[in-house]
Order: sequence, then C-alpha cells, then structure tokens
Amino acid sequence: MKYHDVIVVGGGLAGLRAAIEVNRHNVKVAIISKVHPLRSHSIAAQGGINAPLENHFRGIYDSWEKHAFDTVKGSDYLADQDAVIRMTKDAAHRIYELEHWGCPFSRTAEGRIAQRPFGGAGFPRACYASDKTGHALLHTLYQKVMQFKHASEREELVIYEEWLVTDLVIDEGVCVGVIAMDIISGKIEALQAGAVIFATGGSGRIYGNTTNALINTGMGMAVPYWAGVPLKDMEFIQFHPTTILGKNILITEGCRGEGGFLLNNKGERFLEKYDDSRKDMEIAPRDIIARNIVREISAGYGFDDSYVLLDLRHLGKEKIFRRLPGIRDICMEFIGIDPAESPIPIKPGQHYTMGGIDCNTECETKIKGLYTAGESACVSVHGANRLGGNSLLDTIVFGAIAGENTSKYVQSTGGKKGEKRLNDVLNLRKQIIDKIGKSTGTEEPVTIKNELNKMMDTNVGIFRNASALQKAACEIKTLQERYHRIKLNYTGTQVNLGLVWVLELKGNLDVAEACIMGALAREESRGAHFRTDFPRRDDTNWLKHTLSYFTKEGVKLDYAPVNIGPFAPKERKY
Ligand SMILES: Cc1cc2nc3c(=O)[nH]c(=O)nc-3n(C[C@H](O)[C@H](O)[C@H](O)COP(=O)(O)OP(=O)(O)OC[C@H]3O[C@@H](n4cnc5c(N)ncnc54)[C@H](O)[C@@H]3O)c2cc1C
Repeated sequence: MKYHDVIVVGGGLAGLRAAIEVNRHNVKVAIISKVHPLRSHSIAAQGGINAPLENHFRGIYDSWEKHAFDTVKGSDYLADQDAVIRMTKDAAHRIYELEHWGCPFSRTAEGRIAQRPFGGAGFPRACYASDKTGHALLHTLYQKVMQFKHASEREELVIYEEWLVTDLVIDEGVCVGVIAMDIISGKIEALQAGAVIFATGGSGRIYGNTTNALINTGMGMAVPYWAGVPLKDMEFIQFHPTTILGKNILITEGCRGEGGFLLNNKGERFLEKYDDSRKDMEIAPRDIIARNIVREISAGYGFDDSYVLLDLRHLGKEKIFRRLPGIRDICMEFIGIDPAESPIPIKPGQHYTMGGIDCNTECETKIKGLYTAGESACVSVHGANRLGGNSLLDTIVFGAIAGENTSKYVQSTGGKKGEKRLNDVLNLRKQIIDKIGKSTGTEEPVTIKNELNKMMDTNVGIFRNASALQKAACEIKTLQERYHRIKLNYTGTQVNLGLVWVLELKGNLDVAEACIMGALAREESRGAHFRTDFPRRDDTNWLKHTLSYFTKEGVKLDYAPVNIGPFAPKERKY
C-alpha cells in the first residue's frame, strides 16, 4: 500500500499552497487532483486578490482592521471574526511572498503592485494581473511545486494527476488516508497517509446557471461529508451579478471596479433607485447588486424580461485593452460583441460556495489528521456573503496555515495507521463500482444532473421561500432515489469518464440536499440567503452557523455559535 506523510487532495491554489508549505517543513507530500492542477477552477479567477497594501494612496488610509471590518460587514456578521482577522493580518505578507516567487502582478506607474476597487471596500484594495489573476497565481504556485518536485530524487513531492478521490478513510476517529481511482487506467487504490488536507474547491455545478468549471461538482465536499465530517453554512450560495447572458461566463467585478455602469432598458444607472445600493452603486456587495438586478428586471425595466446591460464604453479602448483584455476576448469570442463599442448583456449566476467542510481557524476539522482549506472549507471568513477578491486571499492564507499545521501534526503523531480499515473501505468502493457497472437500471446520469440543475436554479436561487424550498426538498429525494437505478453505457476500465460522472453525481445530489435543507430551516434573510417570506435578518434566532451531517435518511441539521470579535452586528438597510 502506498504511503505519504501528507496527502493534499486538490491541485488548485489552496492545494498547491498547502503542499508548498508542507514541503518547506521537510515533510513528504503527495498532491492528488482529478484534473491536471493547471486545469483547476482557480485558473479562471479574473479580477483580483485583496490586501490592504495602500498602493493607490488617494487620501484613503487602508489597514488590516479596515479590511477585516469590510469583510465582516459584507458577510452580514456571520463570518467568524477571529478567522477574518487572521486572514486580513496575513494578507500583505502573502501577496509579497507571491510577488517574490515571480507572480506577474499589474503595476502602478511607480512600479508598485496595482490595485483596483472591488465591492465592500469602495477604494482600490484588489491586487490583480490584468483580468487573469487566477492564471498568474496558479502558474506561480505550480512553478514552485515543480521546482520542489525536481529538486529532490527522494520523491518528496509527488503528484497524482487525473486521480479521483472517492472516499476518505477514518479509523478510530483518526484520518488514515483516502481511496482514489486512477482515471486513465481505472485502477482503484488505497493511499495511506499520516494526514490529509482537502482543498477540493466549490460546488457550483449543483446549479445550471453557474460561472463554475464543470469539475466543481460538489464531490470534493461530499467525500468528507459521507465519512462523517459536517458541512457548514451550505445554504449560503453567492450569485455573481454579471455573467454573460445565455453563457454564464463570468464578467469580472473588476469591470465595475474600473468604472463600468449597470443600465436598465431606459439607459438609467438603476442601482441608485435602491436604498442598499444607492451609496456604493456598482461596487456595492454582490448579494445586493444581484438582487437589485433581478428586482429591476421583474419590474419590467430589463431587456426581454431577462437581462440588463453592463456598459464599459466610456472607459475607452486603451483602458479596456490594458486592464480588461480577457473580458474583451470572452465577449468577442462568445457573443460577438466588442465591449469598447457595445454594452454587454448580463444577468446574475451562481458563483461561489460560502459554506463548506467545517473547520476552525487552524484549518482543523473535527477528525484528527484531517485538514481543509480554500473554497471547499468553511473557516468561516465569508459568512453569509463573500467580498470579491477575498476568495483568492482565503486560498493562499489558509492553504499555508493548513500546510504548516498538518506538517506539525505529522511530525508529532504521524506514521502509518489503519491498514485494515483502508482495505475494507477499498473493497467496499470496488463493490459499489462493480454494482454500478452491472446495473440494469434505466436512469441516464445526464438526465438526473439536468433535472437537479434546473430544480436548483428555479427553487434555490437568489430569492427563496418556503414553498419553493419544500418542493426542492421533495425533488431531491426523488432524484436520490432514481440515482439507485442509474445506468452506465460503457463499463470498460480505462478513461471511463461515464463512471467518473456517475460517482460525482452522487456528490452533486447530497451536497445539494445540504444546501436545500439549510435554506429551508433558516427562516431569515442574511447575506446571499434571501427569503421573501422572512425578509429581515434575525440576529436573535439566527446569528449562528448551520452544520449539516450526512445520514442514510438524509441531512441532519445542527447549529454552532458565531465567533463575534471587535465588530458588533449592525442593523442593515433593506
Ligand atoms: C470564473 C471565476 C472567477 C473568479 N474570480 C475571482 C477573483 O477575481 N477573485 C477572487 O478572490 N475569487 C475569484 N473566484 C473564486 C476563486 O477563484 C475560487 O474560490 C478559488 O480559486 C478556489 O480555489 P481552490 O484551490 O479552493 O479550488 P479549485 O481551484 O477549484 O481546485 C480544486 C481542486 O480539487 C481537485 N478535486 C476536487 N475534487 C476532487 C476529488 N474528488 N478527487 C481529486 N481531486 C479533486 C480538482 O482537481 C482541483 O485541482 C472566481 C471563481 C470563478 C469561478
């Protein structure tokens, strides 16, 4: 049986940053990723990464305290303030570290790292590499990983590319490894580990209208969930205000940060009509803008009852070419529009999973030896609504923390454990796959997936209410039941992507159920969770985190207190 001191599941920003930290602590590490690490969703991040560097001094003073306050306020006071303070205090250091590792950030005229305004701050705090920030960051980290990989012949850093982790193995309350399938050969193996870090990204593809990559299915959260680790705050789903109509490709908040306008069918900047977006207009937090776009369209001021316009023309060609070249390319390629000449038709779409695997500020889960970081984790720094630019920061800061703590854990307690349990779970997984291959059922995986997506888009969207959520709760049960009769058209072992999608679909369904049940139970409106039947925030009853536990009968909900620090919850405008 293969053994690694630390296994990092995930080759995105959080996973790579964690692996680098483990390697720096002289602990052997393996990265497992179901795609080549450079195909992780992090590569698609566009607009920027927050840090209070103050490189655009315009009489505005910035600090980690201000950044922390904006983050907590943006989170609608659900974020744990100790976690937020940890992240914002570390931010500048982590950005400079990336710069020293060669990240090609855009520059100010004086040669400093350039920053642009993003929602929540109202002034430039997001560092960026034109509109391809994720691309620049991921390549920087991957390069560093390659450097470590090739620096040693003793296999101190190993990468399992295109391996799907199907199970997390826990023996007597301690994490002892994972079960994974090599997608190319079809071989399933138990991989033993001193400790495991889950950095498996978001679950956006439980929705149809989403900016997320196809691989963000939810399975990365479902694997620890199935093994008994609770998911936290899964009802909080971020809808990004601006995705291209009909394509759901993200149009970065950077467009509005650079000065872009949102216009209704009368050519008005309609955000000024609404109390909660009048002050900050296009750079108000995302939940507020997404709701006001839907309200504007519902009031009959959209185009074809389905979209509004994002106008960048007044920024001028030169600025668009220099600061937003990727956005221009996307618009030209996918809808034949040059944003320097025509406004872009946009509508909101699912974008980010605020919830995730429950962990504390040290990235520790309830299971000894199991850590988590990045979008798959819920530390929680984003609470009920994430500020733009804070997710990339979260991956870098908590990736490093997870790596450091895991190394220390392995150095003090590590070693091979749980061989029998690993073999038992491996055999169980083989039986499940065998059963799927022999199924005589008639259910097509793609049909179940499409129905799930449509149901989530319709019933668990920007505006929610009890009857729609109850409908979703019934439908998810039916889909889970139909999943047992799923059929596989190809049963060969090599590169069986049909089998991969069937395994992932189970993750899709179970994570969606946690989201629905959390949303149905939470009878208030907070951040991105807006209940039309409970339109106000209710701190007396609901200033608490939701915990979802997996059981064979369905989700079991529990609650945990929020860590309130220096920032007392303030009334919000509706
Ligand atoms: C279009 C887009 C633009 C964005 N722009 C910004 C931005 O400008 N600023 C910002 O702050 N945030 C942005 N975000 C959010 C941010 O990019 C993500 O939250 C962040 O990059 C997630 O990084 P991660 O490392 O946690 O996960 P990911 O990059 O998603 O990586 C997950 C990894 O886990 C692996 N994995 C998952 N499940 C398994 C499994 N079962 N077995 C094996 N491997 C598995 C995958 O192969 C992958 O390598 C954007 C998101 C999108 C979708």
